[in-house]
Amino acid sequence: MPSRAVLRTSSLQPDTPIQFLKGVGEKRADALARLGVRTALDLVWHLPHRYLDASTLTPLARARVGDEISAVGRVMAKRVLPTRKGLRIFHAVLRDDSGLLECVWPGQAFLDRTIREGQLLLVSGPVRFYHGRQMAPREFIILGEADDAESAPEGLILPIYPATEGLGHRQIRALIERHLDALIPLIADLLPPARREALGLPTLPEALRAVHRPSSAAEAELGRRRLAFDELFDVQLMLARARALAKRDKGGLGQVSNATFTRRLRESLPWSLTGDQEKALTQIAADMAAAERMHRLLMGDVGTGKTVVALLAMLVALENQHQAALMAPTELLAEQHATTLARLLAPLGIMPEVLLGRMPAADKASARKRIASGAARIIIGTHALLQETVAFKQLGLVVIDEQHRFGVEQRAALINKGSAPDVLLLTATPIPRSLALTLYGDLDVSALRERPPGRGKVRTAIRVDAERERVWTFVGEECRRGRQAYVVLPVIDESEKADLRAATTMAEQLRSRYVDLEVGLVHGRLKPEDRDAVMRRFRDGTIQVLVATTVIEVGIDVPNATIMVVEHPERFGLAQLHQLRGRVGRGDEESYCILLADGGVPERLKAFAATTDGFKVAELDLQERGMGDLIGARQSGGITLRHAKLAEDGDLLEKARAMARDVIERDPALQRPEHGPLRDRAIARFPRAVELFRVG
Ligand code: ADP
Ligand code: MG
Repeated sequence: MPSRAVLRTSSLQPDTPIQFLKGVGEKRADALARLGVRTALDLVWHLPHRYLDASTLTPLARARVGDEISAVGRVMAKRVLPTRKGLRIFHAVLRDDSGLLECVWPGQAFLDRTIREGQLLLVSGPVRFYHGRQMAPREFIILGEADDAESAPEGLILPIYPATEGLGHRQIRALIERHLDALIPLIADLLPPARREALGLPTLPEALRAVHRPSSAAEAELGRRRLAFDELFDVQLMLARARALAKRDKGGLGQVSNATFTRRLRESLPWSLTGDQEKALTQIAADMAAAERMHRLLMGDVGTGKTVVALLAMLVALENQHQAALMAPTELLAEQHATTLARLLAPLGIMPEVLLGRMPAADKASARKRIASGAARIIIGTHALLQETVAFKQLGLVVIDEQHRFGVEQRAALINKGSAPDVLLLTATPIPRSLALTLYGDLDVSALRERPPGRGKVRTAIRVDAERERVWTFVGEECRRGRQAYVVLPVIDESEKADLRAATTMAEQLRSRYVDLEVGLVHGRLKPEDRDAVMRRFRDGTIQVLVATTVIEVGIDVPNATIMVVEHPERFGLAQLHQLRGRVGRGDEESYCILLADGGVPERLKAFAATTDGFKVAELDLQERGMGDLIGARQSGGITLRHAKLAEDGDLLEKARAMARDVIERDPALQRPEHGPLRDRAIARFPRAVELFRVG
């Protein structure tokens, strides 16, 4: 027997405008539109961003100092108190059956207008001691008003929905609850039952019900995994389709190495290649020789030797009477490459051509002429290479250094100057396989993990407060022995964050401590020319200790610097710490990365200290922060994942990828009628992903 709800809304269609749903109306429809909910179907897809699991709540009386907790209580009293420093603090005292807890929100006096006596609040955050136990909530949610009888939710898992001005999460929850039974039957499941069963996942309607109305956290998670699978499948489908189309459109140049130039270069190198370099080259050579175009990403930490691998690939193009171009994101990097390549190529009698924006017009014109005539065979440049006036005779290989610093369109602009050239992308920011597969699909990846032998090692040490003196003594001694040190802080001055050590203060302190040494200071508020001046003096050795914010993360290479001290390391992402660590260990001397932790040492820092492998650090970072923070929007090509968690869903990703390849193999353009719904869904979900392929 159909329920009344179904009867009442039986005319409901997926595209029924949201304001026609019972309980919505015009005003709420406006608020819902701000949340991206415009149709009945959108409402089912408005998913909880978290759950309140009553089994994980801490009774207020049992909140212990030092713990991170979630708790629910009624507001018994509240007030705003000024501090001596003029900061206004909002206080509220919560009560539950077990007792009381004071909550404080420094600098948020405005909450006095939002939070009222009698309201039921969910708070979560750290408990500390300050004239008694206090919580400083990172997050709070108003669960009920003074007149609701509702008490702390018991034995249930409560979905918390993204809300907006004028439409709170409780109203949204009630609305979804009211319509869910009528909406669920509108959902079409495109995953064939046999596949679904093999994956051990619920049907899509079951999954949506589980996500909105779970009876346990595990049920909600299983629902999420199903949504994640569809999402990952859609990404892989788009990537596989694009790749198949690109390959069909343009075959490769079939560049087989005749070993003339490459052998001579290898013979002239003073060292032999590492195993990883050899392996990458074998993969590259096979790609270049194949009938299909190469589209490969070479990943490796700074110092793993990507340049010589790229150069050997470029020489394969030359062996085939083609040109090879290397594009770098800054003039400095391009110049550095030009110098390195000129030195390496000297024994072969090849002169690389350089094209930079700041070169005199006449020089640029003659460079362009040599590029167009084919006289220039190896070409190095910046964005200047992208200009319309630059034409190649026969471009066989495009190498893009620090590829993530270019947009999709820029990479494509260079590639399109050739007729189906091979493409090699370089990056010093290793990313985990799961992320690479999501961003680049079937882009082939070579990884350099091994470092060439003979260079100084970097030791990472975590030191706590009590060891601070010894650290500064050590830094002083090393600098007097002729070494140099970086000291990195999270903020420029104390006004930014009262409880953090700041760069300006640290510089003063170190100046009075090391009277016989020169201490420099750089940060983002200095004028670029002043900053460069200080950096140059550090590079030249006139400054021994450089106090800095993370501005030094990029663009400075001082082999004599052997110490990197990081204050408040807990403030930095792991990938960022790894970049900082990469600033030392560039010479032959042993180097040190010293993390000065204040209180306890978090596990994440221990894990970081235990590895020097950028790939491992990236894995840890992905677990910690998720994909969104790891990569810029520009790099992601419009792919943002709503349901999938790459750090956890690796198994689903591999299966989604296999299934997507299977579909594309049978129907590369997704033209068959039975694939129409799949194609439409994937395009609707990732409209920009279609562009990805133009990369080559
Ligand atoms: P990346 O671009 O990956 O940061 P580079 O290509 O600049 O690294 O190489 C770093 C340094 O290591 C360079 O000085 C290079 O000459 C050197 N190098 C590269 N490969 C080897 C090797 N197999 N053995 C010894 N030194 C190497
Ligand atoms: Mg490099």
